[in-house]
Amino acid sequence: MPFAHLGEVVDEMAPIARAFHGTGHRVYLVGGVVRDLWLDLPLDPATDIDLTTDAVPVETKAIVGPIADAVWAQGERFGTIGFRIGGRAIEVTTHRSEAYTAESRKPHVAFATEIDTDLSRRDFTVNAMAIELPAGELVDPFSGVSDLVGGHLRTPLGAVTAFSDDPLRMLRAARFAARYDLAPADDVVQAMTEMADRLDIVAVERIRDELDKLLEVDDPGDAFLLLHATGLLRRVLPGVAAALDRDDQAPVRAVGQADPADDLARLAALAWWDTSDHRLAGVRAWSARMRLPNAVADSLGAIVVGAATVGDALAGVPASRRWAFRTGQQRQRALDLALRVDHDATHRLMVVLDHLAATEDLDDPGVPLDGSDVMELLGIGPGPRVGQALAHLRDLRFEHGPLSVSEARAALESLSMR
Ligand code: ATP
Ligand code: MG
Repeated sequence: MPFAHLGEVVDEMAPIARAFHGTGHRVYLVGGVVRDLWLDLPLDPATDIDLTTDAVPVETKAIVGPIADAVWAQGERFGTIGFRIGGRAIEVTTHRSEAYTAESRKPHVAFATEIDTDLSRRDFTVNAMAIELPAGELVDPFSGVSDLVGGHLRTPLGAVTAFSDDPLRMLRAARFAARYDLAPADDVVQAMTEMADRLDIVAVERIRDELDKLLEVDDPGDAFLLLHATGLLRRVLPGVAAALDRDDQAPVRAVGQADPADDLARLAALAWWDTSDHRLAGVRAWSARMRLPNAVADSLGAIVVGAATVGDALAGVPASRRWAFRTGQQRQRALDLALRVDHDATHRLMVVLDHLAATEDLDDPGVPLDGSDVMELLGIGPGPRVGQALAHLRDLRFEHGPLSVSEARAALESLSMR
């Protein structure tokens, strides 16, 4: 039943609605929250709620100040005041007649007094609905509900205008089409095709964030295919586009098979198919192009290089141990990706690792002596020989498995006699 959970949200928003009404202003739920409420998707208590109002930001601050637990105004210049009540984060944006983006030629924002004006500047009709508070009445001037029901992805005004205002919307089109199983309207597909090159002016970070959201879609396959058909994919993921040019659907399938709740696993699948260089340097370069944080790049490196080196890991038990140590915390993700690349070899490696893990800790290739033990045993002071001796013990650990203290001592003694 559409809007089955609307009452709960309207109740939760009641104090806010009262505060706005008390000053003669209107306030509405808007955007994704309305769409998802209509679809009866569960509203997680941690989900942010977007509101829009005819009050200007200074007024909004004065209205919510007394009832909020915290208020933030970083977005004030663009009309947005954020605040928190209990566990809920809420953002109220003054109606806009023009959406600001970093790529706009005029990076300023113009406020509007009418809700319909605001909705007309939103990306798609399914995202251009509002619910007036506290009455809970739907405002749907562009037939977003009927597009949700009929499965259409359309822009409120012309698609060319919409994508000129913000070319990122062309990527968003693919995400919403895949996520809600909507067929993009002909003018949307045509504008995406004709305007694909406009994506080049969009900040890489915005594109990356949009791709991150695309990767959260359960089955993003249709989105990749739409982006490919319109010529957008080769601008953002040239390797995936090249695979699709060869009619190789592996990237699309593989990304969809990775757990949608595991961002890193999905990103790793994307990295694998978007770059043909599966060495650490290749993954680093790809991560840098995507402006990913270093910690993410390191994890991706462990996963992708791990998946690429399964064959080496099968060279013998020592090689398997080294592989297990190098993949570390990313081992399971590396195996999952590798299974999709080379099922049989990966399966064999998994058997080896399971067998080893029964008797040793694959995550701890430690040796039972430290630097001072080594110095004392060998009768030497600090210097490179200490490191060499420890490296030798580490090699033995990989060759033969965990060492006891007496085995390690014996190994060092035989080393010192050589
Ligand atoms: P999600 O559930 O993924 O958060 P969402 O629809 O809430 O989806 P957001 O990116 O959070 O998407 O944006 C909230 C709302 O703001 C959208 O529903 C849409 O109305 C509007 N919006 C967001 N980005 C744009 C944009 N680039 N151009 C136009 N309208 C936008
Ligand atoms: Mg949202």
